Amino acid sequence: MDRHEALRAEVREFVERELQPHAEEWEEARWFPHEVFERLAERGYLGLKYPSEYGGQAGDFLDDAVFTEELSRCGSGGLAAGIGAHIGIATPPVWKFGTEEQKERFLVPAIRGEKIAALGITEPGAGSDVAGIRTFARRVDGGYVVNGSKTYITNGVRADFVVCAVKTTQEGGHHGLSFVVVEKGMEGFDQSKALKKMGWHASDTGELAFDDVFVPEENLLGRENGGFYLIMANFQWERLLMALGAVGAMQRLLEDTVEPLSGNGGGRDARRAVADMATRLETARAVTYNALRLFAGGHDAVREVTIAKLKTQRDCFEVADMALQLRGLAGYGQDAGLERAARDARLGPIGGGTDEVMKEILVKQIGL
Ligand SMILES: Cc1cc2nc3c(=O)[nH]c(=O)nc-3n(C[C@H](O)[C@H](O)[C@H](O)COP(=O)(O)OP(=O)(O)OC[C@H]3O[C@@H](n4cnc5c(N)ncnc54)[C@H](O)[C@@H]3O)c2cc1C
Repeated sequence: MDRHEALRAEVREFVERELQPHAEEWEEARWFPHEVFERLAERGYLGLKYPSEYGGQAGDFLDDAVFTEELSRCGSGGLAAGIGAHIGIATPPVWKFGTEEQKERFLVPAIRGEKIAALGITEPGAGSDVAGIRTFARRVDGGYVVNGSKTYITNGVRADFVVCAVKTTQEGGHHGLSFVVVEKGMEGFDQSKALKKMGWHASDTGELAFDDVFVPEENLLGRENGGFYLIMANFQWERLLMALGAVGAMQRLLEDTVEPLSGNGGGRDARRAVADMATRLETARAVTYNALRLFAGGHDAVREVTIAKLKTQRDCFEVADMALQLRGLAGYGQDAGLERAARDARLGPIGGGTDEVMKEILVKQIGL
């Protein structure tokens, strides 16, 4: 069997055995236990694409892609998001831009599941417009003093370290942003507030406050004032991961819809709706795998990744809505998992670049 397909079978079995049975409980608790990261680390899943010298599995982007698609079947968008933020958006900048010393301090324990990571870019006044970041890191002897706030940060409460975008010139903007790693327990760093949300309940989406937080020089990630490049570097991968997650979620929604209908074949309306769901799933899969193939091959895939993100996220929400509709049509009662899938899917057209922003990027790519 192909290595990636073997991994798929293994992850699917792990997700069904160790994650799915707890989805309900962790959603209710609005939290999932730290031990989940430890179990994932034992199986090597936190470091699939990372080199073995840091404790990784020396795999490739396709390994992470397979893992992400399968993880989305766990039954809790929040759980998948917390794990996904650690693997897919918070640790890659350390791997790509960190010094050897920073990789030893942050990446190695993150792959072992001992330190949990978050990525802190969004602020109350800076979401789509990352150039609008106001959190300021003032240079002082031996490092920086950081003041400001972040919002909507996945793993924000539990994170042992947050890879944070900050302004390092008064003007900020594209040429005045940098990244610093802010660590749990640093004086003046408050990560106590978790937001209540429509979906992703098991994930601690945090508000972070920085009040004269001293961050030592050795926690600067990449070049001072080179932060904008760092943000852009991982955007394509983050969007691809979101597209893959939506494909996995739609696959499960389709399976869960067909199963109860198969006894009576469904009515005519139900059969047409199922055909629509399957068409959305397969077109979403096709554009996503095409973008992944280009990205993994090292090609410029901005246009294809943008299309994949745009196509999959709204479709996933609509497929979840169709699944709800069909459940009602078939005369079945409430299903907490299905309701959750619909709520969780609504984040897709917002996070990692909104649909409107994706459209702006796409028309620029087309030359308009
Ligand atoms: C559950 C959750 C988890 C998140 N996790 C993280 C995380 O871990 N780390 C992190 O840094 N961020 C995270 N985010 C933040 C997320 O990336 C932002 O919500 C997203 O980038 C949109 O920013 P915003 O919410 O400030 O909306 P805004 O940027 O204020 O947008 C508001 C509306 O205006 C539209 N709009 C904005 N600019 C344009 C434009 N140029 N053209 C057309 N329309 C436009 C948008 O499409 C949207 O409809 C998370 C958000 C949520 C909800």
